[in-house]
Amino acid sequence: MSKKPPVAKKEEPPATTPVPLAGAEEVAAEPARKAEKGKKVRKHKEEKGVHAMYKIEGDKISRARPTCERCGPGYFMADHHDRYTCGHCGFTRYKQK
Ligand SMILES: [Zn+2]
Repeated sequence: MSKKPPVAKKEEPPATTPVPLAGAEEVAAEPARKAEKGKKVRKHKEEKGVHAMYKIEGDKISRARPTCERCGPGYFMADHHDRYTCGHCGFTRYKQK
């Protein structure tokens, strides 16, 4: 085994365009790359995660989905177009119109 001699790395300044001075109104915009085929742009329908279950209005907090009647508070029900379902116990409640 031969040890390689330590090579002093030269830090080269990144070759980028100079930053425009303050006051410059136009910043060179990068060409927007459009999604090509194969990469479908999904429509963001719903947020995911616990934070999506709550809506914060000022100091108050409200739940965006009903909780399961069987499992109790803490178990949110999935919001389907015509019903709510609980993923924990399978409880389904149809939306009333
Ligand atoms: Zn449940």
